[in-house]
Amino acid sequence: MYPQIVVNLEKYRHNIKYLVEKCATFNIKNWIVTKSFCAHPEIVNGIVDCGIDAVADSRIQNLKKMRDLNIKKILLRVPMIDEVEDVVEYADYSLNSEIETIKKLGKYAVEKGINHKIIIMVDMGDLREGVWPDNVDEFIQEVLKIDGIEIKGFGTNLTCYGGVIPDENNLGRLAEISMDMAKKFSLDIEYISGGNSSSYYLVENNRIPKEINNLRLGEIALLGRETAFGNRVEGLYDDVFVLKAQIVELKNKPSVPIGTIGMDAFGNKPHYEDRGIIKRAIVAIGRQDINPDGLFPLDSDIDILGASSDHTILDVTRSKMDYKVGDIIEFKVDYGSLLKAMTSEYVEKRVI
Ligand SMILES: *Cc1c(COP(=O)(O)O)cnc(C)c1O
Repeated sequence: MYPQIVVNLEKYRHNIKYLVEKCATFNIKNWIVTKSFCAHPEIVNGIVDCGIDAVADSRIQNLKKMRDLNIKKILLRVPMIDEVEDVVEYADYSLNSEIETIKKLGKYAVEKGINHKIIIMVDMGDLREGVWPDNVDEFIQEVLKIDGIEIKGFGTNLTCYGGVIPDENNLGRLAEISMDMAKKFSLDIEYISGGNSSSYYLVENNRIPKEINNLRLGEIALLGRETAFGNRVEGLYDDVFVLKAQIVELKNKPSVPIGTIGMDAFGNKPHYEDRGIIKRAIVAIGRQDINPDGLFPLDSDIDILGASSDHTILDVTRSKMDYKVGDIIEFKVDYGSLLKAMTSEYVEKRVI
């Protein structure tokens, strides 16, 4: 059935192995982030033997799906205080920044007779999650009073909310704080986690601070693109995922709507470029499944004109292909469209 997103597992495995090998030369272990494909079991099963240190996800539901995998599991999103029981059950490690939550994690860990391992997140300026650097010392003192909790490292997240680029300064400072704290409190630090796909360029350029020994990689392995500058990474496939949608209408029509222009389906006032009469194809996929700006037709002579909830409108006038109703149009996707397509129950997922 269409629409369909096809996942080429061999290409994804290649990307992961390439990154793992490259990072290993800097003693960096990789956590592969599974959230953008909802920890799809067939995909996850296909990557556990690629030399990765752990699978990591922001959603506890996804970690639950992976419970039987024989590999470390990490909860990436700072836990909701109401999900801590599941966190202790399904995650080997979680990333944390709130004392109250850690107290509750400790309580359930003690009840279960185990220690729950945590990575303390430090905000190095991106202003998403993390303890402020000045307060880390005091924070650790509080954590050390909690039974059932083991501090296994420090981490930071960059280039997410604030768009801050990882560099020698912010990651160097994270490393410095981590080493100082480990020494001061005799912590058994396993990880200093230097960020996500946006930190990879520092590895490629031999600039990653030597104390950083972990990266949490999602997008770069999935789409072959680093995320500090948006560059393609040589040696990686950028077509692990191909989205396929079927043409349901194909007609010659004007390029500018007829009548008084009010608002489109999403409350925006649209603007139209007059291209005269064009050949318009409607494919059966829409904003419920993708972002139209995040689709890239493999037939590069196709332009995407727009999309409503379930229709995406294409200009196929310049294409060399003689499309017909029922034909399938293929697209590469960006991160936003990948997320939506993998999450949409209307898009069939096919692993090849
Ligand atoms: C999603 C997420 C990642 C992965 O980010 P990518 O840019 O896809 O590599 C890493 N760390 C945290 C905390 C995340 O939430």
